[in-house]
Amino acid sequence: MKQIKGISYNINEDIVGRITFKKNMFHRTNEIWVNKNATSPKSEYAATISENESITDNGKPYCIVSSIDVFNEGDVVVVNKQGEIIFVYEVKSIHNAIMATERCNHRCIMCPQPPILQEKDRTPFNLKLISLFDKNTQEIGITGGEPTLIGDNLFVLINHIKKELPKAAISILSNGVKFADKEYAMKLAKCRHHDLQIDIPLFSDIAEEHNRIVGAKTFYKTVQGLYNLALFHQRIGIRIVVHKQTYKRLPQFADYIYHNFPFVVQVAFIQMETVGLAKENLEQLWIDPFDYRTELREAVLLLADRGLKPYIYNAQLCVLPEDVRCYAKQSISDWKDIYISECEGCALRNQCAGLFESSKEIHSSHIKRIEHISSDISCVN
Ligand code: SF4
Repeated sequence: MKQIKGISYNINEDIVGRITFKKNMFHRTNEIWVNKNATSPKSEYAATISENESITDNGKPYCIVSSIDVFNEGDVVVVNKQGEIIFVYEVKSIHNAIMATERCNHRCIMCPQPPILQEKDRTPFNLKLISLFDKNTQEIGITGGEPTLIGDNLFVLINHIKKELPKAAISILSNGVKFADKEYAMKLAKCRHHDLQIDIPLFSDIAEEHNRIVGAKTFYKTVQGLYNLALFHQRIGIRIVVHKQTYKRLPQFADYIYHNFPFVVQVAFIQMETVGLAKENLEQLWIDPFDYRTELREAVLLLADRGLKPYIYNAQLCVLPEDVRCYAKQSISDWKDIYISECEGCALRNQCAGLFESSKEIHSSHIKRIEHISSDISCVN
């Protein structure tokens, strides 16, 4: 999440609120007033944010920042005692998500955000967050950790989104294990959300390989989960993170998906983000994406030729074979998306996902600007 640092005053507990630049009549206790030259913090608001270091301290919560230009009307932030301002929702972003829990029942070797063992129930906080989001929000993710570890509260979140954000599509990222329980899968279907997709990672067509990568013996539970979700007509996507331990069997994996899960609406091949455990285990995991382009191309085309929908996430277009560039998606969240000096003047820059901020040092050595677009990169199917 995007985060900036300011200096907090009179803030002892985290304050969550919707950013406003206006002087509103109602709902001000849920709002954080932002004003460049505020002369004093406004008591009607949850807090005040200003650039004015000479603001009169009247005992009300406020935070001084170097620039208010980073805020937009409708963003939702948490301001803490340390002066950190964390953007939990950005009104202009299409990558907003609720973190259902930071706990997980898997220990994936490339996990970008290693799970924690214990935490207090985040559901009340998440319900409040959802109520603060813009009513016109088009898409909201539910992630973790593993979101199903909050049990039936997952359905409480979904129903709350349905009520508060009626236009929002929901995208859930889950390891699918819990859906091996048919009743739990049925409860998801019973939410009857008009636009919900559940994306489930699977890392191999071989059970032992998958289990080794996720650090748990759950391959068959995930497979059962996929079938149960399909039984209740849920929209399902499959994801695979491509690294040194998964790239070799990509074509066989694609074939396995085609034969066993023809009901999935998409299959995403994801370039690994080198943070968290992926960074710690880099030696075992890193392979230059250029060096797996043959296997990736074969897998993508195999699925596309058979009528499934493949996507490639987090990839740099110049590193991909030309005939699969059309399957690449702008998938990197805005706040961690960068381009490096090699990208300057690249003809594909507007269509390219770029790189993760964290990939500044670790990235393909084949990134090279493309001078001319030789052909249209839209897909045929
Ligand atoms: S040079 Fe940069 S912008 Fe161009 S395709 Fe490669 S990564 Fe993308």
